[in-house]
Amino acid sequence: MSQQAASGVVIVGAGHAGGTAAALLRQYGYEGAITVVGDEPIAPYQRPPLSKAWLKGEADADSLALRPVSFYAEHNIDLVLNVAVTAIDRAAKTVALADGRALPYQHLIIATGARARSLPLPGADLAGVFVLRSAADAESLKAALGPGKRLAVVGGGYIGLEAAASARALGADAVVIEAAPRILARSSCQELSDFFMAYHKARGVGFELSASIVSFEGAGHVTGVKLADGRVIACDDVVVGVGVIPNDELAQAAGLKCANGIEVDVDARTSDPSVFAIGDVTQRPLPLYARSHRLESVANALEQAKQAASAITGRPAPPHEVTWNWSDQYDLKLQIAGMPFEVDRTVVRGDPANAKFAVFHLNGDVIQAVEAVNAPAEFMAGRQLIGQKKPVSLEKLADPTVSMKEVAA
Ligand code: FAD
Ligand code: NAP
Repeated sequence: MSQQAASGVVIVGAGHAGGTAAALLRQYGYEGAITVVGDEPIAPYQRPPLSKAWLKGEADADSLALRPVSFYAEHNIDLVLNVAVTAIDRAAKTVALADGRALPYQHLIIATGARARSLPLPGADLAGVFVLRSAADAESLKAALGPGKRLAVVGGGYIGLEAAASARALGADAVVIEAAPRILARSSCQELSDFFMAYHKARGVGFELSASIVSFEGAGHVTGVKLADGRVIACDDVVVGVGVIPNDELAQAAGLKCANGIEVDVDARTSDPSVFAIGDVTQRPLPLYARSHRLESVANALEQAKQAASAITGRPAPPHEVTWNWSDQYDLKLQIAGMPFEVDRTVVRGDPANAKFAVFHLNGDVIQAVEAVNAPAEFMAGRQLIGQKKPVSLEKLADPTVSMKEVAA
């Protein structure tokens, strides 16, 4: 890599957000040098299949790639892989690499994502105790799953439930151990928690709720998970999915404003005007809800990549988006739009018993968020109505015989 090749935009983190920002800069006409530095050994890839299709063996490694590897050279984007950025010198406008190099930048984009939280308990370092964040983590977990294997899943969030569903598809047993009294407590409403738990149970997944783990048991390899009540859940392997920690240490050390993530504005700009931050690592404004939040989703990574690339190339900022997210478990597609802030009522449309329904969260007659299970029309119309802040008839919304088109009219 030449010195000149590193003097335009440097992107730290070759993940979903970083890889997208590089491509968008070129798409928006940026002609300067673009260098993407990533500490993983592979080009930017998609993480969602790692707990879903890929883990079940329904997708190959190539399908994970965000773009073909040839894309980067074809678009004159320097990919520097397998090397971590160790420091940012904002005064000199350089970043230091673990291999001793220093790269100058005119604009810096920090896209370092988040890392899986681990549980610092006795036995956490036993073989067979996995987290699931990277392709390498997923390779290890996949090798451990198979018919007759018993998987203990710690955490009843997205990672845990998707891993449990994939384990069942591979013929393994799965038991989910959750600290809260219900699964998906952090991200979803009670109706969704009840529905997903019943669906998993009907497919043979066991649950331990309000359960705290005190240790992982075993000699060399894990054989069980010990709970505070003294019981040991026997298992062959464990996947720990208890949330993530933003990789904002580089930014903190460089004196950028951070609070559970790097603080950015609506252009994804940090407290230093030449430094942007995007993706899971940011604490960002949500103009629709007049508050800031740290989002952990692909849609957020894409949106903030757009914001940063627009600001750097002098394009108008993209319109404020309605955040959204999805999860695939068995034959269920959960789609979520908006955030359930300041809601005072809930409307359920459709029947959970048919595995096709939507839960709308409203402030008065204005929809703030929708959680839709196998209900794409409700998701799409709901997302649009959230962005428009348009009042709706609660009666029509609750009646599945009234089309969403009519509800939105
Ligand atoms: P990442 O994709 O994590 O990329 C950050 C990159 O930066 C990583 O490669 C990291 O190693 C690298 N890095 C960190 N520090 C340094 C450094 N100092 N120097 C160099 N490189 C560094 N979201 C959804 O919306 N829907 C889903 O269904 C969904 N499923 C998921 C399933 C799994 C198994 C996982 C793990 C996540 C899933 N997500 C899903 C979340 C989604 O993948 C993330 O929100 C998204 O990857 C965030 O992109 P990012 O670029 O901010 O972070
Ligand atoms: P998560 O959604 O935050 O869920 C973690 C769950 O583990 C929470 O329910 C949490 O409960 C529970 N927990 C915390 N400590 C525990 C303990 N000691 N014992 C048992 N349970 C405990 O995080 P995640 O599922 O690990 O996912 C990690 C990341 O991947 C997130 O960024 C997520 O968005 C992303 N991801 C997304 C998708 C998707 O969008 N479909 C799929 C997979 C992964 P409390 O809330 O009470 O702490």
